[in-house]
Amino acid sequence: MQILGKIHTIRNTGQGSDYLGPCEVCKKHADTIHKLQNNFVVRKNDSINFLIANGEGLYGHENCVRKYGDKIFNLEDFNRRNNLRIVSKTQTEQIFGE
Ligand SMILES: [Zn+2]
Repeated sequence: MQILGKIHTIRNTGQGSDYLGPCEVCKKHADTIHKLQNNFVVRKNDSINFLIANGEGLYGHENCVRKYGDKIFNLEDFNRRNNLRIVSKTQTEQIFGE
């Protein structure tokens, strides 16, 4: 197993501050909380790359949490296979220019 690099993913949790608490960045109420997550992109073999979460992630307004990441991709763009998020060959090329 080989680590190709790191990316951030972002997703809409579908919940607001009433459920998840205030934005962790600005500490204010948010109607919708987004989660920014750092991930390793890992190669299992020549054909399958996937994401492994690195750390707990950051919860808050989309605009607030986006300030804390580069290479941010929508989590939902990565297809789910069992409990894994797969990074396709095309996505890997887009991310790392392979
Ligand atoms: Zn905020």
